[in-house]
Amino acid sequence: MFTATPRLRSLLYRPWLLALVAALLSAAVLLAGSFGLAMHQARQDERAQMNAQGERFLVRLEQLFGQLRAGLDQLEAQPLRGCSPAMIEQLRQVNSRYRFIYEVAYVSESQFCSSWTRQSLIGKPRPPDIRGPTYDYWLNTSTQPDDNLASLMLGRGEFRVSTSRGHLTDVVDLPAGGSLVVVLDRGSKAVPVLGPPQTWPPTPDWSPTSTETLMSTQDKLVYRMPTQSPEYQLVLITPRSALQQKITGAWWLLVPASLLISLFIGILVLQLVRQRQSLGGELHGALRRGELKVLYQPIFDLNTRLCVGAEALVRWRRPDGTLTSPDLFIPLAENTGQIRQITDFVLQQLLEQLGQLLRANPHLYVSVNLAACDVMAPRIGRVTAKLLALHRVAPRQIAFEVTERGLVDVVVARNHLQALRDRGHQVLIDDFGTGYCSLAYLQTLPVDCLKIDKAFIDALGHDAASSGVAPHIIRMAHALQLRVIAEGIEFESQAMLLKSEGVMYGQGWLFARPLSATKFTELVTGGRRSAGRRADDVA
Ligand code: C2E
Ligand code: CA
Ligand code: CA
Repeated sequence: MFTATPRLRSLLYRPWLLALVAALLSAAVLLAGSFGLAMHQARQDERAQMNAQGERFLVRLEQLFGQLRAGLDQLEAQPLRGCSPAMIEQLRQVNSRYRFIYEVAYVSESQFCSSWTRQSLIGKPRPPDIRGPTYDYWLNTSTQPDDNLASLMLGRGEFRVSTSRGHLTDVVDLPAGGSLVVVLDRGSKAVPVLGPPQTWPPTPDWSPTSTETLMSTQDKLVYRMPTQSPEYQLVLITPRSALQQKITGAWWLLVPASLLISLFIGILVLQLVRQRQSLGGELHGALRRGELKVLYQPIFDLNTRLCVGAEALVRWRRPDGTLTSPDLFIPLAENTGQIRQITDFVLQQLLEQLGQLLRANPHLYVSVNLAACDVMAPRIGRVTAKLLALHRVAPRQIAFEVTERGLVDVVVARNHLQALRDRGHQVLIDDFGTGYCSLAYLQTLPVDCLKIDKAFIDALGHDAASSGVAPHIIRMAHALQLRVIAEGIEFESQAMLLKSEGVMYGQGWLFARPLSATKFTELVTGGRRSAGRRADDVA
């Protein structure tokens, strides 16, 4: 587990540094997250835009093709052929009748006449790109970016009608490099109607029979428009170069928000660390002012229901009467190193308060919780020896509880725990099962007893039928010839089940809450028995 050396600890306790690290880390996470979000949003917008553009284009194309075909049908139905003035009049009439028809012409082997008096833009005849049963199609008759040039021509018989680029582009703002292409020959060939030629197929997995409308690659979007004609498909292709701009645009909006949140997190961390530091300062004063107290939670033999000992638990009662939980100030004291003073205080208090009781009851013991730093140095053995000599109490009457998390350096911890046992103390593993202790690891530790964590006792449930991890731990402890104490027993059913599993000792609210020295002494001298009536916490 992580150990804070004094240098590292003092470094970590600089509020500004911690706040800065927290702000920088959160800024990095938030900026990366917002970039991802902006990217996603830009892609969604782009697809939505392309879809809308494609649909608008499709509507316009349907209108446009409808008018071109209607113009040709009208001309084919009338009897005139050849380039007579009446024919030119006919061509002009059709031209002015349909909004999307740009030019109308009559083209035969020998004759050419157009609705236009100026030079015709229908151009030299060439074979049609698509030859349908009724209509022929000439695509991309001009690729020049001039809206007045014809870009699509339809023919029926000897009549031709064309539409201009402008009629196609006025509904769709085709970006530079974008094209509208007509796909022919079962998807194998693509001719642009608008814009430059495109590499074909547009995507590696392009299938002419697919019904997917929108596809995208790294650098382009491809929108396939459904057509009624099986002879061709219309496809809109636009480059994606603008995507980067859209991302950065959206991202720049998120940057100030991310920075603000990071700043807020930094300030919050600063406040929390300062609060903790001030709690540390208060704790220092609390020790001097005698605000710390020690309570004793009795431990019972589950078979005889006699009290065999107690666990010393520290309490901090502020001058205003509020109680601060040891779960809050013990970890803080471990960080600041004040825990050593607390451990010494607990030992001193317990021998002062219970010395007489312990002398009178040589089988009674009190266990003291040790922090990691207590286990990592031989100090605690010497301190206890002095106090025991002073109060004439036997070392076996003081047990030490160490948690798995407290065994930071196993080799050092093992030596010190062995030294404590050599002095005659018992060593208990507390909160067993919540750390990383394995059976193999446990075998190498000089311990006498395992305390099963309350979490596993809770899992036993309120009815004796349920099982869980506890029975496994119990079997393991028995295999290693270790005694077992179950802590946090709140229900009779749990006590019964534990007893039936061979657990000898138990501690918990079912029997007694942590008691003052006086109440604990009364409990012991008054028969040491938990007579079903629970002793209450005096804190
Ligand atoms: P711990 O060593 O596991 O202590 C057992 C905790 O469970 C105690 O909480 C006790 O009051 C509580 N407990 C006992 N039986 C029951 C029960 O039936 N139900 C419930 N809900 N709780 C029960 P406490 O006194 O608040 O102590 C919390 C933790 O603070 C202790 O856990 C221990 O890790 C630490 N601590 C307390 N006193 C000291 C101390 O003097 N030195 C050190 N290093 N740590 C201490
Ligand atoms: Ca404990
Ligand atoms: Ca415990």
